[in-house]
Amino acid sequence: MGGAHRLPVAVGVDLGGTHLRAAVVQGDRIRLRHREPVGNDRDPRSIAARIAAFVSRHAPPGAPVGVGVAAMLRGFDGFVAHSPHLGWRDEPFGAALRRQLPGRPIGVYNDVNAVTFGEYAAGAGRGSRDVVAVFVGTGVGGGAVLSGRLLTGFSNTCAELGHLKVVLTDDARLCNCGLRGCVEAYCGGSYLLARFREELAAGARSAAVDLAGGDPEAVTAAHVDAAARAGDPWAAGLWREIAPLLGVAIANTCTAFNPEVVVLGGGVIDRAPTLTQWAIDACMRWVNPPARVGLRIERAALGDDAGVIGSARLAAEGVHCAAA
Ligand SMILES: [Zn+2]
Repeated sequence: MGGAHRLPVAVGVDLGGTHLRAAVVQGDRIRLRHREPVGNDRDPRSIAARIAAFVSRHAPPGAPVGVGVAAMLRGFDGFVAHSPHLGWRDEPFGAALRRQLPGRPIGVYNDVNAVTFGEYAAGAGRGSRDVVAVFVGTGVGGGAVLSGRLLTGFSNTCAELGHLKVVLTDDARLCNCGLRGCVEAYCGGSYLLARFREELAAGARSAAVDLAGGDPEAVTAAHVDAAARAGDPWAAGLWREIAPLLGVAIANTCTAFNPEVVVLGGGVIDRAPTLTQWAIDACMRWVNPPARVGLRIERAALGDDAGVIGSARLAAEGVHCAAA
């Protein structure tokens, strides 16, 4: 990407439930990095004021600002429909930002979309124009960049891959979105922990408990993964159920979007290599064969920098930006 260094300096912000990260970014280089706890003072106007303070102190006049928010957005002007992480509902966050930073182009993005764009522009998807990302952390999120453009959809909820349905029975597991059978309800880290507790409390025996120091309540995805790899029947059985569900969600995404690169990231992916490999095997089995040709599956490369780089790059390219 020879053009990256000709892009203007932009500010990227990654606003999660725990940390507010901000950076001054040019192309794929972070010139200055900042992180602070979100803390209790987290109403949208206070957060906007804190972002404005960083921007005014560190960014050149007029530099665009991109903010990735752990939230479900509605439309393209930064209206936050719901953010469980921040405790926000129906908040005109973009308007608050524009008031605090008049004259600057400001874009507000879903955090996973920003991370996806960061990995596309400067991370594991660099050099490709067609990148899909799947992040399996406490939940499951996704994003898609096709022909170099972030897909956002009609109302800005494109590529919410965690809510792809993978189990269709009446007793499919319930997802936080209110529906049953979403891949997140099977693979998301918080759902996995609940499942471990439930089955171990009901009497399941597993080497994963020994790996967790004998405490069933302390069993994590990493313990279950190690036990599954060693052939523990309960752990391997659970992974044999769950890995294909994640795999088919990724396969169907590839069948729909035909990416060159799938970027996989998130805490569960990082800590459960067996689950991840089995999911990749299932994906390769079920993806439409023409879409499998040349398909690469890569690990996310930028870690916590992906969100600030991605939101800065989106703003630098003027994607869904507006100024007051
Ligand atoms: Zn769901």
